[in-house]
Amino acid sequence: MPQKLFCIDAMDIRVVKIMRLAAMIFIAFAAGCKDNGSSKEQKTMYKPLTAQEKRVIVHKGTEPPFSGAYYDNHRKGLYLCRQCGKALFESSSKFESECGWPSFDDQIAGAVIKQKDADGVRTEIICANCGGHLGHIFSGENFTPKNTRYCVNSISMDFIENGQRAIFAAGCFWGVEYYFKQAASVISTTVGYTAGNTEKPTYKQVCDDKTGHAEAIEVVYDSAKISYEDLIKLFFEIHDFTQLDRQGPDIGKQYRSGIYYLNEQQKETAEKIFTELKQKGYDIKTELKPAQTFWSAEEYHQQYYKKNGKAPYCHIRKKIF
Ligand SMILES: [Zn+2]
Repeated sequence: MPQKLFCIDAMDIRVVKIMRLAAMIFIAFAAGCKDNGSSKEQKTMYKPLTAQEKRVIVHKGTEPPFSGAYYDNHRKGLYLCRQCGKALFESSSKFESECGWPSFDDQIAGAVIKQKDADGVRTEIICANCGGHLGHIFSGENFTPKNTRYCVNSISMDFIENGQRAIFAAGCFWGVEYYFKQAASVISTTVGYTAGNTEKPTYKQVCDDKTGHAEAIEVVYDSAKISYEDLIKLFFEIHDFTQLDRQGPDIGKQYRSGIYYLNEQQKETAEKIFTELKQKGYDIKTELKPAQTFWSAEEYHQQYYKKNGKAPYCHIRKKIF
């Protein structure tokens, strides 16, 4: 016959209730490294804009044609949002339209939002991360097989020669961003959600663990100065990749460890490091999958620790390479 673990009377029940209440209060403070957004941080880490930039990016103006820095730029790299640093376009999607503004036939998935322009005729494009005005989108012109032209003001963007992207998930994105932001030759970082099955997920939906997304980070780096391999090594050193679907107090699939590769070269590099870690005896729980759309998280999550002058306690860096 199984032995009772506890035997309590009425007095003990009151004690147990008080203990339960204390435990609930403790859990509310200790479980997970962040709240549900109730302490929304309004401060942003956007770059200060010049009057000219503000006229276009904030007040939806247009720079004169053939006047911007990038309409005739043919170098390889990434175009980022001038205001927030989010990667918007790859140089491989840029084409010559002779319209006087940089033209792209595709965006980086999830980076740009299309909406009806105030003129009621055109379709405006804005940065999905910060809402900054970029320009307009046109179709049916047959410039390229995609038959689409993102017509973008140079002044709304920064061009990063040799810029490349990397997408990782390693638990609470606040701490992950804290460490990647410190790495030399990392140009910009954006926290968000990826590897799920719905579009434009919110933090609350991802927290409920029903959309399949992982909290993730998109890193833009100068590939001439830092390698993807170096970034992967940093990724493995700042979290416990032997834990499945959790990082310490943060429990759930949204906190899983993942590398989401953007091309075969990134995949092969990741596989090489996996082999190296297995030889060192690690039981790796990190998933390695092709990248899906990266959805930016709400503004108050971006550079959270920097905004709030704090340091992460869910992540620490441990040298393993
Ligand atoms: Zn932006």
